[in-house]
Amino acid sequence: MGTKKYVYYFGDGKADGTGKMKELLGGKGAGLAEMTNLKISVPPGFTISTEACLEYYRRKKTYPPGMWDQAMNALKRVERSMGARFGDPANPLLVSVRSGARASMPGMMDTVLNVGLNEQTVKGLAAKTHNERFAQDSYRRFVTMYSSIVLGIERDRFEELLKRKKAERRVSHDTDLDAKTLQELVVQFKALVKHETVRDFPEDPLEQLKMAINAVFASWYGKRAIEYRRIYSIPETWGTAVNVVAMVFGNMGETSGTGVAFTRDPASGNPIFFGECLMNAQGEDVVAGIRTPLPVNTLAKTLPHAYKELDATYRKLERHYRDMLDLEFTIQEGRLYMLQTRVGKRTGIAAVRIATDMVKEGVISKEEALRRIGPDQLAQYLYPIFDSKEEDKHQPLGKGLPAGPGAAAGKIALTPDHAVEMKARGERVVLVRQETSPDDIHGMNASLGFLTARGGMTSHAAVVARQMGKVCVAGCEAVEVEGATSVKIGGRSLKEGEFLSINGSTGNVYAGDIPVVESEVIQVIQGKLEPSQSDKYRRFAMVLSWADDVRRLRVRANADIPEQAKIARGFGAEGIGLCRTEHMFFAEDRVPIMQKMILASTPEERERYLTQLLPLQKQDFIGLYREMKGFPVTIRLLDPPLHEFLPKREDLMVEIARLELTGGDSAVIEERHRLLARVEELHEFNPMLGLRGCRLGITMPEITRMQTRAIIEAACEVAKEGKKIVPEIMIPLVGMLSEMKSQKDLIREVAEETMKQCGAKLSYLIGTMIELPRAAVTAKRIAEEAEFFSFGTNDLTQTTFGLSRDDAAKIVDYYKLHKILDTDPFAVLDREGVGALMRMAITEGRQTRPDLKLGICGEHGGEPSSVEFCHQLGLDYVSCSPYRVAIARLAAAQAALAEKDATAGKKPRTPAARSSRRTSRSRSRSW
Ligand code: PEP
Ligand code: MG
Repeated sequence: MGTKKYVYYFGDGKADGTGKMKELLGGKGAGLAEMTNLKISVPPGFTISTEACLEYYRRKKTYPPGMWDQAMNALKRVERSMGARFGDPANPLLVSVRSGARASMPGMMDTVLNVGLNEQTVKGLAAKTHNERFAQDSYRRFVTMYSSIVLGIERDRFEELLKRKKAERRVSHDTDLDAKTLQELVVQFKALVKHETVRDFPEDPLEQLKMAINAVFASWYGKRAIEYRRIYSIPETWGTAVNVVAMVFGNMGETSGTGVAFTRDPASGNPIFFGECLMNAQGEDVVAGIRTPLPVNTLAKTLPHAYKELDATYRKLERHYRDMLDLEFTIQEGRLYMLQTRVGKRTGIAAVRIATDMVKEGVISKEEALRRIGPDQLAQYLYPIFDSKEEDKHQPLGKGLPAGPGAAAGKIALTPDHAVEMKARGERVVLVRQETSPDDIHGMNASLGFLTARGGMTSHAAVVARQMGKVCVAGCEAVEVEGATSVKIGGRSLKEGEFLSINGSTGNVYAGDIPVVESEVIQVIQGKLEPSQSDKYRRFAMVLSWADDVRRLRVRANADIPEQAKIARGFGAEGIGLCRTEHMFFAEDRVPIMQKMILASTPEERERYLTQLLPLQKQDFIGLYREMKGFPVTIRLLDPPLHEFLPKREDLMVEIARLELTGGDSAVIEERHRLLARVEELHEFNPMLGLRGCRLGITMPEITRMQTRAIIEAACEVAKEGKKIVPEIMIPLVGMLSEMKSQKDLIREVAEETMKQCGAKLSYLIGTMIELPRAAVTAKRIAEEAEFFSFGTNDLTQTTFGLSRDDAAKIVDYYKLHKILDTDPFAVLDREGVGALMRMAITEGRQTRPDLKLGICGEHGGEPSSVEFCHQLGLDYVSCSPYRVAIARLAAAQAALAEKDATAGKKPRTPAARSSRRTSRSRSRSW
């Protein structure tokens, strides 16, 4: 049996791999193979597979059998193709060693360039290229990179020596240093290495290659990569591939350069070739954002031949991949080489723009367009923008590149750690940096937006902003970070903690806290803007109408008041899946009546106050029915424990003491004492598992009576206006058939009586929430009475895990960190446990009642991967917050498409098929 293939060669127009082998070759390796097969100019090289990386770790950091020999054979082929030999002092071949996981992880893992240089080969390189300066420049870069990445010596130590050398020579750019000076630097660098490692810098090219490969493998477990994987839920089991590629040089003088480009604008989606380049530089200079690059189209003038080829190449690649691509290239003495191609990361705004344009151009189908937009990306259409009237009042302090659209106003944080601390204090944060690096990722995650002094549209800050959906202004030259505590912008000094506002759509930067207003989409939905005036709205609505054509799941909203219902309808909700009636009682004018009702000592007294609440509650329902224009409205009976409507015990005690000491009114004191006594009576050690849900309606039936009356009276009134209305009355937290039956009988009795009084007859449904494991396992019985089930997965998750939803955060975070949980089950539905209970309830419930209506109204109803699961379970609808309705519509469409692909034997490709990246948690009860 031969050994397994771990190494895939590419070069001279033919590759062992293809673009489809991303899992094995990583994104970069697959792209290099595909471009080679397309006969695009790519330097030869080979990819060591992700399997090799996983094996390497499995074998305690030793290569799997055959891997090294395969790499040596592939290296020989590279040598033949390049007409040079690795380590040959007269005619040396140099290689780059680059990471490349399945998913792009910009800057999170390591790369070593110019591997193969030593005291001999550097001379050979100088002689071969007739360019001593270039050879020494490559050598000092190599020693820096190798020492920092492989040997673990801080890069800043080398940068410091470089800075000192420039000061000594009185020059400001690296490119101004001559060959001799660079050679002196190499000597200094090596001395530093000897001092730090007590070893000479390695001269053997094969040792360099091996160590560089090991370092790339190791970077899969680097701190940055781990943090990035955590934020983006990338599995550790993917591993990284390693690409060893013949070096081509962008630092051979002014006819050489390197760049990064996108086939369309990744921030706005505009169909223009968009990129940046740096002349006489290597790739690290562009990505690091150390020098602000030039727009790529300047090459049309400076290097017209190479530009023409680049133009033709990007068109060919976009046609081939049928998507917006991100490209990396190097021009060596006027000749173009492509170093990378992959589907480009884009903002949500750009994702919709590109998908709708490509459908119009006939490049992709509508279904393909739907697959390409991450449902959560749609949320960017809802992000606020600056109030233009307010923005006009401010003079910009500076202008940078509009790298991540939207508006952000917050307090300045000058370090990522400070950003995290400020966010933890509940502050809005804008991170301001000279340039960001992958080490800043935690601070970037904590900030609303970033402002950088250096770097272009493809700098680290810009790429991360687009990926995270954050606001970003990059390369704002007016910014000078003055030190640890202040920053100067356009001559004005601002301290950390002062307010700053950044407009990521124009690049303008302002001092102060500029108020934000709703996005264009929300303004259209609120009727403040005509749809025809907003291109963004039209595209957003177009994508959602395509989604409606393919989805099977209905989408409803959780809405309690008419304004919310109106917004929900604007986003396309097809009904209300949950109206939490308690929200109505929390209104300022109702709390005092509610308190009196709770304090009542007899059912008759209680009824008196409930009678006062009835007309108010009825008006609320009329508003909801009218907004929903015939769509179903599910109204849930009172759910929270009653003490939530009363003042806090401690506050009352303090108030009583104060009144008594200051000679307060004795009637007031007496009333406070009564209130305190009732608060104490209602006190529960675990209110989440106490007198709530249907237990309230069972122990105080007059509440259920009043609510039923209000629901039915409102429905009769709206029905008289000629509108169709079928109220769905939902009983919360049912665990036993007897509970269900007792409440249902009461509701039926009151409903029939009310209809008689109103002189009307209408249909209505009575159902329950499934929020307790007991309800799920006895669903067959409960369905004897319940006409619908709505899964309350907030409580069902709480009760299944036995983990209080109010206290879960700390435990869940710890569990995630220690890999006991992959995701937060309160955010992403736990398919294995909670999902199994749901499946059981559905199967058994339908056995009893085949037409049982099924929905979900926990927070999971608006989370894409949970929506996909609900589709698979065969629910009728999901119900979510009004602002997540659009996301759920798209997720439901993607679930239907994934199912279609699976039946057709294709692999699912929808973004929702991956786990959610939602960071916000709506864990606690939302009243
Ligand atoms: C639930 O438990 O999932 C639910 C929707 O109810 P609430 O969040 O109001 O408890
Ligand atoms: Mg609940």
